[in-house]
Amino acid sequence: MAALLFYSTNGQSPPVTLREAFLQGQAPDRGLYLPEKFPALTPAEIAEFPGLPYSELAFRVLSKFTADVVPDDELAAICREAYTFAVPLEKVHDRVHLMRLDQGPTASFKDFAALLMARLMGRFIGQDGRQLTILTATSGDTGAAVAHAFHNVPGIRVIVLFPFAEVAASQRKLMTTLRGNVRTVAIDGKFDDCQAMVKRAFADDALRSIPLSSANSINIGRLLPQSVYYFHAASRVAQAGEPIVFSAPSGNFGDMMGAIVAARMGLPVKKIIAPVNDNDAFPRFLQTGAYKKIVPSRNSLSNAMNVGHPSNLARLMALYGGWMDETGVIHRMPDLAALRRDVFSSSVSDERTRETFIRVWNTHRLLLEPHGAVAWRGFEDWLETETLDGLPAVILETANPAKFPEEIEKCFGWSPDVPPAMAAMIELPEDYDRMKPDYEAFRAYLLENHRSGRRE
Ligand SMILES: *Cc1c(COP(=O)(O)O)cnc(C)c1O
Repeated sequence: MAALLFYSTNGQSPPVTLREAFLQGQAPDRGLYLPEKFPALTPAEIAEFPGLPYSELAFRVLSKFTADVVPDDELAAICREAYTFAVPLEKVHDRVHLMRLDQGPTASFKDFAALLMARLMGRFIGQDGRQLTILTATSGDTGAAVAHAFHNVPGIRVIVLFPFAEVAASQRKLMTTLRGNVRTVAIDGKFDDCQAMVKRAFADDALRSIPLSSANSINIGRLLPQSVYYFHAASRVAQAGEPIVFSAPSGNFGDMMGAIVAARMGLPVKKIIAPVNDNDAFPRFLQTGAYKKIVPSRNSLSNAMNVGHPSNLARLMALYGGWMDETGVIHRMPDLAALRRDVFSSSVSDERTRETFIRVWNTHRLLLEPHGAVAWRGFEDWLETETLDGLPAVILETANPAKFPEEIEKCFGWSPDVPPAMAAMIELPEDYDRMKPDYEAFRAYLLENHRSGRRE
């Protein structure tokens, strides 16, 4: 069988294997990688998923992509090692369920991809004795998940940039207490500044000597593991062949792309709902066909979704026949009718977010946090346009409420329980560097870090 190759959405770089796509992150032409063809899971294969442990289900889905680059027994071992925690589905009412993706080591759904990527990338670079620096900008959850997953992986150094004032103390401590091969840098600026510094570093010729990669959702390695929990959800709540509705709260649209990948592989999906906060570039595009990114991005309660120009839209457009470059310019329109048939999006303001999580608690005794509340409200918005027709729906809760205690204390007067693993980590001493959003200083920092890393 010919190897599965990955093309760049900008069409100027040659196709690469999964291994190269993982290690490069972004394609040299600044496009994002997508598989030339989605491997299929047959209805008979999907029918075996109910009852499988999550790690085995993950193996069955991911092995379709990794067959050329990782032996099956190794992938199975990696999945068993990565996925040791529960992925609960709670029935809320009728056939509406909440899937909690917050039981991993850093209590957000970002753990699902980070745990797998760290193991696969560690294996890839171990093979040729390469050294790799993972550079990532975070508004909170990605940094913690990536730092934790790559901690102590030989041959890999991790540098995480975060906006000092925009990250909650508990989120910060999940990354600044690790040390070892993990460096965290607090930037006196916004998340946009962090992301811009990381992007410049990737494009900087003066840094060519440092092999850099990214663990942000521009990396295809983020999307593939994120398709697995959609199969898992369907296997628990849908009958064989029954279409399902998903609602994933969206920032960079990596999470919802997991549902698109699952659907392209053969999972019957009725609708993918991708609600956003005040950063409403995508719902406006769906409505009007005109795309205008939001600069600077708007702050909101769901801070992990404060993204003015979602990077994965380049992929979404490509899968619907369009072409959007990395700056957000659309060179070829996607099939808008088909996109609207499959995907719904609405904007959920902070006021509606807060109203929703108070109401959902009062009505169902279900505790959400701001991101999950956006997903819930987006689902309700969709119900005003279409009916569920008795089909199952799964709303994604992407973080643990204990990561956002302030809002819960403010609304209800009590604090959520902190998961034990998180409680232990945030007690450890912190260690991080601090910097102005000044690219020249950051470049010098990277070069110095690289030199001292080689001496170790
Ligand atoms: C990152 C994140 C999101 C948004 O996911 P995208 O893949 O960027 O759309 C939603 N909720 C939480 C808690 C997150 O950390």
